[in-house]
Amino acid sequence: MRYGVSRRDFIRMTALASGALPLSRVGVFSQGGSKMKRTGAPKKVIVVGAGLAGLSAAYELTEAGHDVSVLEAQMRPGGRALTLREPFSDGLYANVGPIHFPDTHNFTVKYAKLFNVPLEPETWNPDLASIHQIRGKRILMRNGLDTSDWPDSFTPEEKKLGFWGMLERYLKPGLDEMAVNPAAPDWHVGSLKKYDEMSYVDFLRAQGASPGAIILLTIGWWGLWGDGPATVSALAVLRDKAHEFEGNEWYRIKGGNDLLPKAIAQGLSDKIRYGAPVVRIEQNDEGVRVVFLQSGTHHTLEANYLICAIPFSVLRGLEISPSFSPGKQRAIDELPYFSVARVSMQCRKRFWVEQGLHGSASTDLPIQTISHVTAYQPGPRGILQSYTGGPDARRLMELSESERIRFTLEQMEKVFPEIRENFEGGVSKLWDEDPWARGASSWYRPGQMTELWPHIARVEGRIHFAGDHTSAWIRWMQGALESGNRVAREVNEAV
Ligand SMILES: Cc1cc2nc3c(=O)[nH]c(=O)nc-3n(C[C@H](O)[C@H](O)[C@H](O)COP(=O)(O)OP(=O)(O)OC[C@H]3O[C@@H](n4cnc5c(N)ncnc54)[C@H](O)[C@@H]3O)c2cc1C
Repeated sequence: MRYGVSRRDFIRMTALASGALPLSRVGVFSQGGSKMKRTGAPKKVIVVGAGLAGLSAAYELTEAGHDVSVLEAQMRPGGRALTLREPFSDGLYANVGPIHFPDTHNFTVKYAKLFNVPLEPETWNPDLASIHQIRGKRILMRNGLDTSDWPDSFTPEEKKLGFWGMLERYLKPGLDEMAVNPAAPDWHVGSLKKYDEMSYVDFLRAQGASPGAIILLTIGWWGLWGDGPATVSALAVLRDKAHEFEGNEWYRIKGGNDLLPKAIAQGLSDKIRYGAPVVRIEQNDEGVRVVFLQSGTHHTLEANYLICAIPFSVLRGLEISPSFSPGKQRAIDELPYFSVARVSMQCRKRFWVEQGLHGSASTDLPIQTISHVTAYQPGPRGILQSYTGGPDARRLMELSESERIRFTLEQMEKVFPEIRENFEGGVSKLWDEDPWARGASSWYRPGQMTELWPHIARVEGRIHFAGDHTSAWIRWMQGALESGNRVAREVNEAV
């Protein structure tokens, strides 16, 4: 299944005249991939969190000769880069965090290559169709969507444009304005503030999209933002889409996304303490001190610098002394986190392929989307997975595990009626319930990027901040890895 849109798709589908999106700057971030040389004497550094951000920071600092200790709350590395291998049969697995990434994600590609983690390109079988299902009506999409089937009305011009044409018409003007390098650490919202003041739906409306077009462009996969596309800052969506459209090909990690953090962690094994949640962070002019739990007992560790590579949703529960600056503390307290539920359902056979379907669907049902997550794994069994965001995901939290599976089966049956006779078992992952993530990723309400962004990655004394939320690639592995490289450089150069 693939729902990402590459620059090539965008160009091909829209017959973009020059093929040159101004925001296409492939390779512009490649300086981040260069090897770091140690500046001055070796420093003692504590890294809190062994997700991809913490691991890449620890790796870069260790390579440069610094003395690094990583404290990780869980008994495994990788945080949100999580792959479930149980309770599935025949060696099948289901990613419940990252799925895939475009080829322009140079930090993800760099670490996969460095640690011999195999990548596989995503191929899109043009003979299979994906489904849009709205108000009970099923519309098939192959290379494009037949807008005459859509239950909402479009303007005559939108009918001619079709799905990809509408995407270009309504998104491209905003995407072109993202040409201000959105990856720079000192990126200022500046002239883009107007997009931060409106929601994504308001932005589409301001571009002239009809109500029917707005539904089409925000249903299912296209609406997986915050509490829905009417709640999220248009600037946050445009910045994300600008990065997404830069890609030409999409890749995934062969064997499961957890293989990448596991490979990085293996080389740092003696530097990582697992099962060691940090509960307090202190600093003064001389250094930093953390208090962490291990086997129910409090322990302390001291160092020259600290890298805080945990989500703000978790950081807001830690004791900090002395307090962070008001701007930083506000960002930590107010940055919202996206509720996501992924329910993976194993089926005896891939009946949807026999019907000429990918197994992917964008719907207005409370499960929102469905995808076939074992498309690149051998059959005959297969796993269909729902990917649900916002209030719909939170409602699942009120159900027991067996009720969640039953509910998902009932909903999936509305799109794939044959699932009931083929269903064998399922498992849910609700990211709000994960005490070490407390949500799937950060997002921004209208106005919040202007207010919070300048404080998110800013250094506080001897404490440096990493994680995808501190990078321009929010909710991408690339963002976590890029931020790990940035903080490693900050600490290396700190005097
Ligand atoms: C549903 C979903 C879909 C996604 N889809 C994609 C995708 O398709 N492609 C893509 O590239 N990316 C995707 N991502 C994003 C990607 O997973 C993240 O950007 C990345 O894994 C974040 O890494 P991180 O190191 O910043 O944070 P995390 O992975 O959250 O790591 C933080 C670490 O800190 C630990 N920790 C937390 N609190 C403490 C504490 N008090 N003490 C010690 N340790 C602590 C945690 O256990 C964790 O290991 C997705 C994520 C989710 C959840």
